[in-house]
Amino acid sequence: MFSTIQEYQQQLLSGKTSCVEAVTYYLEKIEQHKQLNAFTEVYGAEALKKAAELDLKRAGNTTIGKLHGTIVALKDVICYKDHHTTAGSNILKDFTSVYNATAVQRLLDEEAIIIGNCNCDEFAMGSTNENSAYGKVLNALDETKVPGGSSGGSAVAVQAGMCMVSLGSDTGGSVRQPADFCGIVGLKPTYGRISRYGLIAYASSFDQIGIFGNNIDDVALTLDVLAGPDEFDSTAIQQQFPATSPVENVAEKKYRIAYFKEAVDHASLDKEISISIKNCLEQLKNDGHTVEAVEFDLLDHIVPAYYILTTAEASSNLSRFDGVRFGHRTTAPVNDLTEFYKLTRSEGFGKEVQRRIMLGTFVLSAGYYDAYFSKAQQVRRLLVDKTVAIFKDFDAIILPTAPSTAFPIGEKTSDPIAMYIADIYTVFANLTGVPGIALPLFRHSNGMPFGLQVMTNKLDELTLLQVSQLLMQQYKTF
Ligand code: GLN
Repeated sequence: MFSTIQEYQQQLLSGKTSCVEAVTYYLEKIEQHKQLNAFTEVYGAEALKKAAELDLKRAGNTTIGKLHGTIVALKDVICYKDHHTTAGSNILKDFTSVYNATAVQRLLDEEAIIIGNCNCDEFAMGSTNENSAYGKVLNALDETKVPGGSSGGSAVAVQAGMCMVSLGSDTGGSVRQPADFCGIVGLKPTYGRISRYGLIAYASSFDQIGIFGNNIDDVALTLDVLAGPDEFDSTAIQQQFPATSPVENVAEKKYRIAYFKEAVDHASLDKEISISIKNCLEQLKNDGHTVEAVEFDLLDHIVPAYYILTTAEASSNLSRFDGVRFGHRTTAPVNDLTEFYKLTRSEGFGKEVQRRIMLGTFVLSAGYYDAYFSKAQQVRRLLVDKTVAIFKDFDAIILPTAPSTAFPIGEKTSDPIAMYIADIYTVFANLTGVPGIALPLFRHSNGMPFGLQVMTNKLDELTLLQVSQLLMQQYKTF
């Protein structure tokens, strides 16, 4: 066995294992964990064929692709040519991608093996993976609990050992929160670091493809392959960056770390989570790092701002699903076009997506635009200014990832507000565009994993991953 992709590749090169052997192993795992419902489709035969090709290609060859043989799963919002991509929605049922997302193309170019498509909340809207047309996903550590969402399937695919790394999308926490609930690493890079071309849009100014992995090195290696300019996405950052992998834990380096007192003392935060994070901050301080509380009085405004702006963008993005061009189309008799749209969209979209389209349409309507949309934009501006100021003095911010550990399936389904409020710690990074990572450092007395979240300045994934490596190597308590 191996613990990192790099180790696996060394074993491939020395002939200790083969891609076919690895794919066979992971397919068995997928079969064993079928009840978790993490995959919407498994590309078994195709993955085995690709593995055999790679094994052949490697024979007598020492130069291999950066992700040679790496077994990857995709969230059902990332287009993979000639494969179904449905955003967990009936409205896109049976839709087949006609091109590869840039992220997928880069995985393939570096010789990764895509093993399947993962379940998720419909159009990435949700925090529990309970809003999927394919049914809910179960947390592998406790099947009565949610895995988090919206990238729940991708998180569980890594958690239960059904792939090596997986891709998700993070608009308000959908990679970091399920990583926290499942006890794995989840990275949301800087907005624009990975091209969004071929990612089905939820809220375009927030969306970012993210990576789930078992360790920092695997995540960094995958990031290096996916990141970079892309002529198909004008919001992709046009700068090339030096590789982050392999990630050094620079032992002698002392970091300046900020935390928000209002966040770690927030009434909604589970006491054990609060204590563990405070202990970790204390220990960092004792070890010579600068750790300081930064005043943050905007905490209670960030979730409302997030839900106003993202639903507004979603209402526009999802207007293309009208039953005319692709996807589900009503078969009921209709009298006019309006009725046709209404029926098609009511049949195709689930309740949560409908709720958000209506909310987004409302906040953009002429009479309410200034009261809601403009106000939320102003909050976003304040948050960005605040973030710029913080990163003048600090290398990183530490925050909780979620207010609780994974909770029972069904607990919050009838209370959307309670569900939204739980995004309090993750939406900050999307509103400001900075990178954030969830690290599985602790275990709760209820048996479930949790950790904390680290954020750094825009484009500074290198520091983010180095701080993460330090925390994972020296501050993990289970
Ligand atoms: N839970 C958040 C929401 O429902 C995050 C979603 C996401 O990041 N895609 O909007």
